[in-house]
Amino acid sequence: MSRPSPEKTRNEDDASCRVPVDHASSASCFVTGNGCTDNQELPAGLPNLMDIGSPDDSADLFGSSVNTKNIVLVLDLDETLVHSKLQPCDNYDFTLQVFFNMEDHTVYVKQRPHLEMFLHQVAQMFEVVVFTASESVYAEPLLDKLDPDGKLISRRFYRESCTFSNGSYTKDLAIFGVDLAKVVIVDNTPQVFQLQVDNGIPIKSWFDDPADIELMELLRFLATLVDAKDVRPMISKNFSNNP
Ligand SMILES: [Mg+2]
Repeated sequence: MSRPSPEKTRNEDDASCRVPVDHASSASCFVTGNGCTDNQELPAGLPNLMDIGSPDDSADLFGSSVNTKNIVLVLDLDETLVHSKLQPCDNYDFTLQVFFNMEDHTVYVKQRPHLEMFLHQVAQMFEVVVFTASESVYAEPLLDKLDPDGKLISRRFYRESCTFSNGSYTKDLAIFGVDLAKVVIVDNTPQVFQLQVDNGIPIKSWFDDPADIELMELLRFLATLVDAKDVRPMISKNFSNNP
C-alpha cells in the first residue's frame, strides 16, 4: 500500500474540501478532493445539522452493546472510500440529492474500486465506524447508500465530532471511550490522526482511478490485526507516521 508523502499530503489533502464545505477555510472546493480539481465557490449559509455524533453520546459507543469483535476499525469517507462531485461525471455509481443553502443539489458519487467487497469483509472482522469531517447532511445519505441495511457500519461520526484547529480537522479517537490498543483509523489525510499516530493507517487518496487496488491491499494488512492485543506496534512498524 502506498503511503502519501507528508509534503504531498499537506498540499493536497485539505480537510475543507468536503460536502458541504468548511467555510472557515480559504479553499473553495465544494466536493471532496485532494487536488481540488472541481473548484466551485463556497456556498454560504450551511444548514443546521440534524444528526450529530457528539463526544457526549459516544461514551457508550461499544460498552453497552454486545461486542464480539476485538478491534474497532475507523474509516474515513471522502477520497478513502468514495469521491463525490457536483458536476455530472462519467461512470458515477449513484447520485444524492443534498439540500443545503436553500437549494437541492445533485451530488455524483463514485465508489473506490473493490469498496463493496472491502466493507463486507471488514464488517466480519471489526466493529466498523465511519468518521468523516464532512457534514451529515451529505454523509448520512451517502452512507445509507453504502450500507442500506445498516449491517456493515456500527456508528457514524460527522464533522461535529472532529476537532478544528489551525485550519484543519483532527479526529481524536479518544471520543470512542475504548482502549486505544484496540482502535485503527484509516484516512487519506494523515494529519487527522496526529493525536494518535500509531493508530493511523494512511491510504492514498482516490479520485477516479479504476485500476486502484488500495482497498484490497489494505484488507490484507487489516487481516493481520484481527486478534491483536495492541494494534499500535504493528501499525507503527509498517507505517512511519511520525511527523
Ligand atoms: Mg478523506
